[in-house]
Amino acid sequence: MTATQVVDLAIIGSGSGNAIPDDRFADKTLAIFEEGVYGGTCLNVGCIPTKMFVYASEVAEIATHGARLGVHSKVDSVDWPGIVERVFGRIDPLSQGGKEYRVDRCENITVYDSHVEFDGRDDDGRYRLVTRDGDTVLADEVVLAAGSRAVIPQIIADSGVTYYTNNDVMRLPELPERLIIVGSGYIAAEFAHVFGALGSHVSIIARGPGLLRKQDADISNRFTQVAREKWDVRLETTITEAEDLPDGGVRVGLSDGATLEADVLLIATGRQPNGDRLNLDSVGIELDDEGRVRCDQHGRTAARGVWTLGDVSSPYQLKHVANHEQRVVQANLLKGWDATDLDAFDHRYVPAAVFTHPQIAAVGLTEDEAREAGHDIAVKVQAYGDVAYGWAMEDTTGFCKLIAERGTGRLLGAHLIGPQAPTVIQPVIQAMHFGQTAHELARGQYWIHPAMPEVLENAILGLDI
Ligand SMILES: Cc1cc2nc3c(=O)[nH]c(=O)nc-3n(C[C@H](O)[C@H](O)[C@H](O)COP(=O)(O)OP(=O)(O)OC[C@H]3O[C@@H](n4cnc5c(N)ncnc54)[C@H](O)[C@@H]3O)c2cc1C
Repeated sequence: MTATQVVDLAIIGSGSGNAIPDDRFADKTLAIFEEGVYGGTCLNVGCIPTKMFVYASEVAEIATHGARLGVHSKVDSVDWPGIVERVFGRIDPLSQGGKEYRVDRCENITVYDSHVEFDGRDDDGRYRLVTRDGDTVLADEVVLAAGSRAVIPQIIADSGVTYYTNNDVMRLPELPERLIIVGSGYIAAEFAHVFGALGSHVSIIARGPGLLRKQDADISNRFTQVAREKWDVRLETTITEAEDLPDGGVRVGLSDGATLEADVLLIATGRQPNGDRLNLDSVGIELDDEGRVRCDQHGRTAARGVWTLGDVSSPYQLKHVANHEQRVVQANLLKGWDATDLDAFDHRYVPAAVFTHPQIAAVGLTEDEAREAGHDIAVKVQAYGDVAYGWAMEDTTGFCKLIAERGTGRLLGAHLIGPQAPTVIQPVIQAMHFGQTAHELARGQYWIHPAMPEVLENAILGLDI
């Protein structure tokens, strides 16, 4: 039986979109559409499970390299099914519980387990949303929170070869002996660490001349160098053909004429926003050149009453940005489309981390961006190995790079590669947001001695501003 429902607000996507309805929406009727697993990418197939795997890999990495500290240890065996069970034994009930809460405890909310698309507006101007199951929902307002999906290169899609993405690679029944990863961004780098440290032989196929090329050039170069020492990294290489092998596994042909065989092929070549699957034309909403839904700083699209947030419209494709935008859109829904005091997205200093090995974190401008923008800059690179905690860890590859404006001392960017980089960087993010100068940050507070953030403190003190 199909049905038509009229609601005040429809939300497409149960990732950050699911956090919108709270007590303040109790007097409204809502519909939430989710075609995949409830809770979205971060919870089910993104940030959280990857980091739970990464932690296990960190433990293996430390055990493998204990000898340089005088601790002779090694990894005896890896219980991959046990790790998978630990991760998803925690995550799957959270997803299920989140959905049950909406279905069983929120009388004003209807959850539709289906793909949904727009089909124009009805005579009263309400948005008509049609599910693949044939249900129709008419909504006064709509929030697009439809996220993004893995990009699959045409050659892979056309070849018919068996491949994995972040959606399913974390549920492999066994740890692959050999893994090919296609891609050079943060998802490729994180999975290379996960599988490599647990014992898989990892090959990375990267189209460009380095890995993590959106990072500051020094970080990208250092990471590429470290990666090449432990993984089979093929730069400036593409896949020209791919096929399944009769006895399992895959074979790929490469642009340099080489062939590679592996048990598993993982595609990590970027994420594409899902706006192209919503029939947005029918309500006059445009996508930009990158396929993102266009919106203003308040989350309003070109169609009155249709708001957007997260990966479907954000260039950042990060969960903390999706959550921030969700809070802005949530506040604005309560204020009303035409309110003069609408909240605005704050994208001035968006930090990001890569939980590979070594860890990486960044905020603000790269050195090249700062120069291109015409800033008169001071740059300081401080090695982890120059501070006491770095000595304790015998760290040889980590560093912190700071970029500040000469004269004002304003911090423009920070780029770290090394242990706990995503944690160590936080004081810079805070300083940039609250307008503290480099000197205020360095000398306006205590820095615990001899803790890792001393690498940051020393870098700031070393800036020639
Ligand atoms: C492997 C991986 C690791 C990551 N690690 C990090 C990290 O460490 N830190 C970080 O900040 N970010 C990370 N991210 C990015 C982060 O997961 C996303 O930025 C975030 O989840 C986006 O949230 P969202 O609400 O916009 O979309 P999502 O959480 O993707 O939610 C969108 C939902 O909409 C549903 N949907 C889409 N179209 C329709 C439709 N037409 N009808 C019905 N339902 C629909 C989808 O099924 C999906 O569940 C990672 C991503 C990946 C893939």
